[in-house]
Amino acid sequence: MWVLWLRYAHLQRDPGAVHNVKRLITVCCLWLVGQSLVCAAPVEVQGVRLWAAPDHTRVVFDISGPIEHTLFSLHDPERLVVDVPAARIGASLQAQMKAVGLVKGVRTALQDKGVLRIVLDLERLTKPRSFTLKPGGQHGHRLVIDLYETGASQKATVKKSVAEKTRLRDLVIAIDAGHGGDDPGAIGRGGTREKDVVLSIAKRLEALVEQEQGMRPVMIRQGDYYIGLRQRINIARKHGADLFISIHADGFRDRRVNGSSVYVLSRRGASSEMARWLAEKENAADLAGGVRLDDKDDLLAEVLLDLSQTATIEASIDVAGNMLGQLKRLGKTHKSSVQQAGFVVLKSPDIPSVLVETAFISNPSEERKLRDRRHQESLAHAMLRGIRGYFASHAPPGTHLALAAREHVIKAGDTLGHIAQRYDVSLNRLKGYNRLKSDRLRIGDTLRIPPADS
Ligand SMILES: [Zn+2]
Repeated sequence: MWVLWLRYAHLQRDPGAVHNVKRLITVCCLWLVGQSLVCAAPVEVQGVRLWAAPDHTRVVFDISGPIEHTLFSLHDPERLVVDVPAARIGASLQAQMKAVGLVKGVRTALQDKGVLRIVLDLERLTKPRSFTLKPGGQHGHRLVIDLYETGASQKATVKKSVAEKTRLRDLVIAIDAGHGGDDPGAIGRGGTREKDVVLSIAKRLEALVEQEQGMRPVMIRQGDYYIGLRQRINIARKHGADLFISIHADGFRDRRVNGSSVYVLSRRGASSEMARWLAEKENAADLAGGVRLDDKDDLLAEVLLDLSQTATIEASIDVAGNMLGQLKRLGKTHKSSVQQAGFVVLKSPDIPSVLVETAFISNPSEERKLRDRRHQESLAHAMLRGIRGYFASHAPPGTHLALAAREHVIKAGDTLGHIAQRYDVSLNRLKGYNRLKSDRLRIGDTLRIPPADS
């Protein structure tokens, strides 16, 4: 049509008409470009993943590109309808659909004008919330739908959390005996299996923690069976652990090598793991110290998780240092400082975690010691003293220990300011509590630490 107009304008030799033609051409070009974007190949809904959380069910659709979508609910029976314009269904989607949590099933149908309709059949009335995510971690574009419980069940959770906030709790110490079942761990020349001795030591530590005021043990493995490394972390998280201790016994080809060592996660281990945690963030909204990651920008999520992991590693190094100090009192340690490595079992982003290599089972004299009840008991005591030492200054608010009387023996280099900071109390409170008239401290004196400010 504009070709005709051009010819007409040319014939007229009218500068104004030529200008109009140019504008028309520009408009047409823009319209064509716009059309080609709109009419690009339809976005494909390639996969679906479902997770049931205590208070909601999450449905995540993997999609080949950015989309728009609309949601509406239908009742009797309860359904949630998701309409996605210009979309089609991927070949393997149907196979991935299954009943999880509040979702009984997922159906799809292609509507008029290329609108893909996805119907979620629901167990009962829910409150839906949806958002899209840009590519991040292992995933591409995603459409996320959270289906929240409504009414009574939701009230119950709110009530529970209020009650939890007002009641003091015990510190939860997760004790993980390494290996088990099909996996014997290292084996000594005398036939001693790592999985057996570490379970004995773990049980002794469990008994000690049980007797400790303000602490409660959780055994990750109770007997001779194997638990996956991720699962060990999950069990600790499920119990709300404040500390995770994995107990092992080293094996090495050189029989002379001996001594215990204490490990924490290395930064490299943490950063290579970052992608994995980020990929799983849809079903782990509270990983970064309760910060919801799901609907935040992916870069922000990474920064938050990184901060959480950094703080956790620093806390882990603190615990490990306390434990190593106690193990040194039992005899020679393999390394004089805390070691860092990428152990999977230490990769909780929010629970300080340490791995204790109690001794070298490959060293004949240490193999004998590991079997000895008294030595096992001493190892457990050393670990308990390490735990105590750490929580004396780091008990989380809301725990019995945070409110228990604490003391600090003045060491060279201590200042009131440092001590106040370390125990998280104000300087004035620390001074008032100890009736101090000046800031001067004497090495060897004992300061009483007031209960935490919060
Ligand atoms: Zn081991």
